[in-house]
Amino acid sequence: MISGSLHDASWLVTDRLVGASQGAFAFGNLAVHVGDDPDAVADNRTALAHRIGVPQVVFTRAAHSNRVVHVERIVADVPDSDGLLTDRPDLAIAAQGADCAMIGIATADGWIAAVHCGWQGLASGVVTSALAGMAAAGSRLDAPQAHVGPTICARCYPVDPDRAAQVEAVAPGAVVADDAGYAVDLRAGLADQFRELGVTATWDPRCTAESDELYSYRRDGRTGRQALTILRRSA
Ligand SMILES: [Zn+2]
Repeated sequence: MISGSLHDASWLVTDRLVGASQGAFAFGNLAVHVGDDPDAVADNRTALAHRIGVPQVVFTRAAHSNRVVHVERIVADVPDSDGLLTDRPDLAIAAQGADCAMIGIATADGWIAAVHCGWQGLASGVVTSALAGMAAAGSRLDAPQAHVGPTICARCYPVDPDRAAQVEAVAPGAVVADDAGYAVDLRAGLADQFRELGVTATWDPRCTAESDELYSYRRDGRTGRQALTILRRSA
């Protein structure tokens, strides 16, 4: 696991190395929707909560959309969404991924968000949506900072021409074209969006598909999900 901070919030990125899941999901899978044993996922989620010192972590239910949900307490059933945001201290929120970018965002005025962003999130503007959601909930969007967790790299993310065109229409910087065809560079697309939105960012350099300690849907198909959690502590 790797951890760091954004303003007074701390983030943590999990991996697959430790946990109760077995087989294709070994060991640290945090996703309930992928076919893993629910008891193993529950154990892994409890271990993560203990590690960061909260009763429970609130996870997104990824829908490849730009919907971001404002949460103010621990909720068991979050609606389908690709991001969560809150200004509540000691409330840990998390986004899951296995190639898609997992992004933690914090502002200097005490708001945090956890966002899941693949090519659809890039095209539909899920990061923009997260910041708009914070502003609508009362944030001044004071000096927003982001950390982008491990993400599939462009070399490992070839796409067909149709998908390339869909992404290029809204995020031209995210499409790479060469003799081999088209690929999506999620980091490049996010960097452009951060620049437009005035967000400063730090980046996990790892490619999920090239890192054995991480889950990769493109590499493995049936597999688990890692997560990025973010939390602002009251004390
Ligand atoms: Zn790669």
